[in-house]
Amino acid sequence: MQQGKLIVVSGPSGVGKGTIVKTIVKRREDVVESVSCTTRAPRVGEVHGREYFFLSKEEFARRIDEDDFLEYDEHFGNFYGTPKSFVKEMLKEKHVILEIDVVGALNAKKAFPESVLVMILPPSIDELFRRLTGRGTETLEEVKNRIERIEYELAQKEKYDYVLINDDLEKAIEEFSAIIDNGVSKK
Ligand code: ADP
Ligand code: 5GP
Repeated sequence: MQQGKLIVVSGPSGVGKGTIVKTIVKRREDVVESVSCTTRAPRVGEVHGREYFFLSKEEFARRIDEDDFLEYDEHFGNFYGTPKSFVKEMLKEKHVILEIDVVGALNAKKAFPESVLVMILPPSIDELFRRLTGRGTETLEEVKNRIERIEYELAQKEKYDYVLINDDLEKAIEEFSAIIDNGVSKK
């Protein structure tokens, strides 16, 4: 059976990761997005198994002991992790995309060296600022915090297999799709 590729995507908040990944998953039947586990409570409208697998702290700890996370991390007092068995099961049939921050992505690469790491960057910081404010989901303060993180993210880009600039959206979607088909890991 053809084994799918694990594609790990990072990049600054607001760069267009979600837009690109969701479009590709909609257009291509051979690509799916992974669902992470978290100990945080579901927000209104979130569905177990769709946005996240919502687990108790005890269940999450048990799965850490069983080595069932490709990587996991703590954010804002809650745990988040990529479920290894779930991803491996999906990889039997499809390419799997993980959208994950730089720290998580590098941990995933350690656990799964054949994964292909893709960093998406904006054409400029000004454009990133425009997209983040245009999205309208963060306050100005949050937008500034997110922009400040970009230096750290940029410093890690050499560790990535591919760096893709999301300028023209359709072109970026095509380039990302080509990486899924032809991309290889430097390991
Ligand atoms: P992320 O998932 O990286 O945080 P989003 O996918 O939510 O980013 O995109 C942030 C905003 O930028 C959204 O409003 C989206 O429609 C817009 N956007 C994404 N790609 C482009 C692009 N190439 N050109 C202009 N706007 C874009
Ligand atoms: P939220 O609670 O807003 O959905 O997510 C909070 C943070 O958790 C975000 O920064 C998100 O990227 C991160 N996150 C979500 N899933 C995972 C995961 O599987 N692993 C890691 N390391 N972080 C995750």
